[in-house]
Amino acid sequence: MDVNSHAEELASDLGVDKTEVKADLENLLEYSVPIDEAKQSVRRKHGGSSDGSSPTPDAVDLAEITTDHGNVTVTVRVLTRGTRTIRYQGDDLTIREGELADGTGTISYTAWQDFGFEPGDSLTIGNAGVREWDGSPELNLNESTTVAIADEPVAVDHEVGGDRNLVDIAAGDRGRNVEVRVLECEAKTISGRDGETEILEGVVGDETARLPFTDWDPSPELEPGADLRIEDVYAREFRGVPSINLTEFSTVTPLPDPVSVADDAPRLSVADAVDSGGMFDVEVVGNVLEVRDGSGLIERCPECGRVVQNGQCRSHGAVEGEDDLRVKAILDDGTATVTVVLDDEITAEVYGGGLEDALSAAKEAMDKDVVADAIADELVGGVYRVRGSLSVDEYGATLDATAFTTADEDPAEVARAALTEVRG
Ligand SMILES: [Zn+2]
Repeated sequence: MDVNSHAEELASDLGVDKTEVKADLENLLEYSVPIDEAKQSVRRKHGGSSDGSSPTPDAVDLAEITTDHGNVTVTVRVLTRGTRTIRYQGDDLTIREGELADGTGTISYTAWQDFGFEPGDSLTIGNAGVREWDGSPELNLNESTTVAIADEPVAVDHEVGGDRNLVDIAAGDRGRNVEVRVLECEAKTISGRDGETEILEGVVGDETARLPFTDWDPSPELEPGADLRIEDVYAREFRGVPSINLTEFSTVTPLPDPVSVADDAPRLSVADAVDSGGMFDVEVVGNVLEVRDGSGLIERCPECGRVVQNGQCRSHGAVEGEDDLRVKAILDDGTATVTVVLDDEITAEVYGGGLEDALSAAKEAMDKDVVADAIADELVGGVYRVRGSLSVDEYGATLDATAFTTADEDPAEVARAALTEVRG
């Protein structure tokens, strides 16, 4: 039976004009709505019974939806749409996810089939399931959901489309588009769920921030120095900071003009940096209060690089540790404290000597602690400007330094200035 015959049948059942019914049907079919569902939807619209199927759930505003709702009907504008493959019960499944909005608010959605809608479309979505995700309601669009173009465009207060600056990218974002310069990029082989796979890892930047990325389906355009528009990426948390993820669905287009990348990291008070939950690149200024245990001359596990204590690795048991240098220092700017970690190179600069010097000093004194003591004498009480990657977990905030220099400012002044800047 073709659309025409379906329309004829419906029109005579409902006692309405066939042209109108046919237009409605075609509209729904364009969105890949199965014909039976489309017919039910048209019946309901013209006041007919829905053929004994479950009744259409009530139309609600997004702001009213709670996790207690079962199924709902909403009229919304599509803000964003991301594409991703997930493994579900052993099968690879392509899903679409993003945000929807109406005049009252926004909601996330996951569509388990391709309804064909795009950011900017105004839709009436019938019989969408409500599920709880991270404590908030989310819409599930599945095979019992109908999607049709709304009678009127839906006015919303939110930005339509996924274009964002890097500073505004947060873990959990989906369907985002960024314009960036590739700062670092290297190929890596990982053993994934389908065996060995090649991926790309690196860092991208724009004028607002720098972020790490992973490309799970390596694009040849990604190479250091390339200026690119990348569409349809998602963000997740990786080592405590948001990271950009490219997939087979991401598109990468070279840009004609260079993307300017800020040389400086955003400067924040320690409190604001910690409140952000993690930043890939940030700068703070503070006093070193203390050099903690586990600084100076340390031993690392040759297998995993973790610090070995009393010859024991937490993962690998008794191991022959490898000597290394590092510093863990407590930095305070009056708003909060953070543990700053200096790698072997920066530690050598602070100590004024490398690993060999540290080993011979320890040997001469017959005490490893002389190295940490010398570092503490140098650092404690001084004011330092620290740039690096900040992560926050249940043990506190850690700043892995990429640069560590003396500063002659008053940390409290700097923190106050940073607060004024951030809070306008
Ligand atoms: Zn180990």
